[in-house]
Amino acid sequence: MNKRDYYEVLGVSKSASEAEIKSAFRKLAKKYHPDVSKEPDAAEKFKEAQEAYAVLSDESKRRQYDQYGHAAFDNNGAGGFDFSGFDFSDIFSDLFGDGGFNFGFGSHGSSRATKGRDKLVQVDLTFEEAVFGCKKIVNLDVNEVCSECDGKGGKGESSCSRCHGSGTVTTEQRTMFGTFMSRSTCPECNGRGKSYKERCSKCRGTGKVNVNKNIEVKIPAGVDTGNQLRLSGKGEAGSNGGPNGDVYLEFNVQKHEIYERDGNDIYLELPITMAEAALGCKRDVPTIHGSVKLTIKDGAQSGDKYRLKGKGIEDVHSYRKGDMYVVISVVTPKKLTREQKKLFESLAKTDLQDDLKYRKIEKYL
Ligand SMILES: [Zn+2]
Ligand SMILES: [Zn+2]
Repeated sequence: MNKRDYYEVLGVSKSASEAEIKSAFRKLAKKYHPDVSKEPDAAEKFKEAQEAYAVLSDESKRRQYDQYGHAAFDNNGAGGFDFSGFDFSDIFSDLFGDGGFNFGFGSHGSSRATKGRDKLVQVDLTFEEAVFGCKKIVNLDVNEVCSECDGKGGKGESSCSRCHGSGTVTTEQRTMFGTFMSRSTCPECNGRGKSYKERCSKCRGTGKVNVNKNIEVKIPAGVDTGNQLRLSGKGEAGSNGGPNGDVYLEFNVQKHEIYERDGNDIYLELPITMAEAALGCKRDVPTIHGSVKLTIKDGAQSGDKYRLKGKGIEDVHSYRKGDMYVVISVVTPKKLTREQKKLFESLAKTDLQDDLKYRKIEKYL
């Protein structure tokens, strides 16, 4: 199946802002809305644009799409991306006036079971927490199904008198495109098709309550900044019995005091004295797996790299360990005692005739 790129569908660049994406979608929605458009493939085009917008306007979905393309949503079966839980109402209300305009595909109203929205939560980790994994308390602010009324919004159920249980009402709408009949969500029952004698006091009839809670999450070893961890079903409550959305944790790993991370490899800059550089030395070097003794060859130069195999970070998927690199930095002393000064003065007789670069420079003197 040849699916068009979502950015191409909306006609925006990969770096488009939220506002640009929204505006591009509004234009397409006006052009292709099936109730308005005369174009033969309007319904198709409209659906395509809706799908692109549902993904690109959602921070976490957009990121997934940028990373994996359409494959990111392939697990939804032949029907492709499922955006039934997406709330287009803020866009459409300012396009067509308020009244909760209902754009269903097929015949469902908003009484259909829909999955709750996903949430993206940023989690800060120290270098060690990311490298070795940890347990982290994550604070979540989500809507849950109201336990008092089981998500129904009230007690004493009966069929809605306004829509006779269908959940939708037909209204005449005057828009910039002329007057047309449209089906919209019943404002009386919000599409549920049912009314209740007594409104639930806990959720004020919405069927959902906002809950702030802490959950403990096990963060695997080896994660890095920008990596995401999916917590299935921990997101916003679904509607009408639909499943919960997911929570995506996105990590932000703090810099370490001495280690520099590059993927699963670690770099450490090791200062040595001029004498150690000239004569060679043995130095204790801290690695994340404990200290090791490193033998530095005589004639060491700043920038020389020593590889400590397997002393890096364990890969989050393959468990293969990265390496550690010790980068030598020769430190010139800034203060000398009288005795040291004498020693350096005798060293000053050393010339640079062995150095190829220096010999080249001399030719230009
Ligand atoms: Zn109704
Ligand atoms: Zn309730």
